[in-house]
Amino acid sequence: LAADFSKLGVELKKVESVGADLVHIDIMDAHFVPNLTIGPAVVGSLNKVSNIFFDVHLMIEKPLDYTSRFIDNGADLISFHIETCSNSYTKKVIRQVRIRNKKVAIALNPATSLEKVKPYLEDLDMVLLMTVNPGFGGQAFIKGVLPKIKKLRKIFAKDIQIDGGINDKTAKLVVEAGANVLVAGTYIFKSNNYRDAIRRLRNV
Ligand code: ZN
Repeated sequence: LAADFSKLGVELKKVESVGADLVHIDIMDAHFVPNLTIGPAVVGSLNKVSNIFFDVHLMIEKPLDYTSRFIDNGADLISFHIETCSNSYTKKVIRQVRIRNKKVAIALNPATSLEKVKPYLEDLDMVLLMTVNPGFGGQAFIKGVLPKIKKLRKIFAKDIQIDGGINDKTAKLVVEAGANVLVAGTYIFKSNNYRDAIRRLRNV
C-alpha cells in the first residue's frame, strides 16, 4: 500500500532483492473499508515478475467471491476479516483456500475481540492482528493491541502477524509481545534505503 503505484513491479523487485521475506498486498473494496486499491489482475501481473511469497490481505466484504481469483493470480496466503463473516461463512472461506493448498489467516481489527478467532485457530496458518484501523497507510500504531498479542501467543503457536504502524520501535514492542511476522509499509517504502530499513527490522 505504501509502494509507488506507478511502478509496482519495480518496487516489488527492489524489496525482493534487499531481503524481504514476503510481500503483503492490501486489497480494499470501498465497502469493508472506505478506500479502494487493486484487484486480481494487478496481482497477477506482479506475480509474473516475481517469485516472492504473496501474502494477500483481503479487506473486503464477501471474501469468498474473490479468494479463488486471487489464488489463480498468485496469492500464496489469503487473510480475510472475521468482522465481515458469519461462522458458516468463515468455515467456507477456510475450506476454499485449503482446497487450493494455500495458506489461510484470519484478520482482526484493533477493536475486535480475540474470542472471535478462537473457534478457528486449529484450522489457520496465521492470525493477523491489525494495529491500526484498516483502510489507509501511514497511520499511527495502536499500543492497546499489545496485550491481545500476548494473550494470543499463549494459545497459538503458529504465525502471528502485525499490520499497521510498524517501525523499528513498534517492532520491538510487538516482537516482545509474541509476534513473529511484521508488515511494514511506510517504514520501508518512504525510507531512503529499503535494505537498511529491512535490516533494522530484522535486527529487532
Ligand atoms: Zn494489510
